[in-house]
Amino acid sequence: MGLFKKNPQEPPAGRPSIADHMALAKQMQAQAMQQMAALQQASQASQTSGAAVGSMTWVRQVLAILAPPQPGFVKRCTCVVCGAPKKLPTVTAYVYCDYCASLIDYDLRRACEGDTTPGPEYAATVNSTHAASQAALAAGNPDAYRDLQRRVYEVYAANVPMAVSHRAKNDPAYRSAYVAYMAEAAVARAFDPASQALEAEMKQRVMSLRYSGNMMSPTVAPESFWPMVETLEKQIEVGKTLYRSAGLAELDPDHAEHLTGKFAWSGFCQGWLGMLPADAATQLLDRTGLKNEYVPVQAEDGQPRHCGGCGGELSALPGAKAVICDGCGRTIDLGGAEIGCAACGATMTLPAGADRVACPFCQAQVERAGMR
Ligand SMILES: [Zn+2]
Ligand SMILES: [Zn+2]
Ligand SMILES: [Zn+2]
Repeated sequence: MGLFKKNPQEPPAGRPSIADHMALAKQMQAQAMQQMAALQQASQASQTSGAAVGSMTWVRQVLAILAPPQPGFVKRCTCVVCGAPKKLPTVTAYVYCDYCASLIDYDLRRACEGDTTPGPEYAATVNSTHAASQAALAAGNPDAYRDLQRRVYEVYAANVPMAVSHRAKNDPAYRSAYVAYMAEAAVARAFDPASQALEAEMKQRVMSLRYSGNMMSPTVAPESFWPMVETLEKQIEVGKTLYRSAGLAELDPDHAEHLTGKFAWSGFCQGWLGMLPADAATQLLDRTGLKNEYVPVQAEDGQPRHCGGCGGELSALPGAKAVICDGCGRTIDLGGAEIGCAACGATMTLPAGADRVACPFCQAQVERAGMR
């Protein structure tokens, strides 16, 4: 981590995560604007370049890429665990299987809807733990480093909910597993020489970026941008190796090895796409495989259910075993039937592993059938 340093020349020490890239891009954008302002003052002339950034064509092209999916459409993808195609609409960027509740995909267009800018509490935690983290690194003390990273990710999960799966909202087991996983991933990167070399290389790439355009909307020169993409490609490869060698596969609460590259690319694109000319932005999406395809939602044969956690409506497709509730993030066990609340008459399906819940409508206790 180490993003919110007082010295803006220092590289972020983290891996290419979504939040890191968003923050890095914003930091670079601010830097570019400062450079541009200085340039303008020096030349006493307002810079208007021929760059197409900010023009209507650019806005249409880039915003179409980043626009939320149309209502009634869902990202085309297939579950890597059970093989089922995704059919039901999604509310967040985290696309879970309608049949087995596995994390299938990450939807960049959905992700662009939400604000993933970390709040002040997160920045404060990163800043307050930074010196100790550096000391733990220097002392070769991964245990101390891990403890500090846990603190950082606990605040991250609580303060940047849009950047984390909605499962973290109301599922404490998921949230603590996520924090442990992210902290261990940070340890693995920080103590891996190959990762650190690439981190330094990325810093060089970022510092070598060239900007044009006006100060309100700086454009990154594509030829200075592609080397950064090459470095991220290498970082993703190293990350995949670490995922196995450092035991991250066992810790990842979503078991989503297939998405490690996609998470990195999505965060990177969220941060940088808007600063690229339209043709380079399109090339980037091609190269990173993020040109999403959307298909109509197919929910005709779904049985209506209600989440026992939040009362939200769910659809149980024939043969479905479990789903993640988009409203509250709980895993709902579709193997059990809907249960009625004796107090208010509402019906609901209980979350996996729960034998009783407080009715989301009236707070009366509702128990799984046969519990007494
Ligand atoms: Zn599945
Ligand atoms: Zn729910
Ligand atoms: Zn009730």
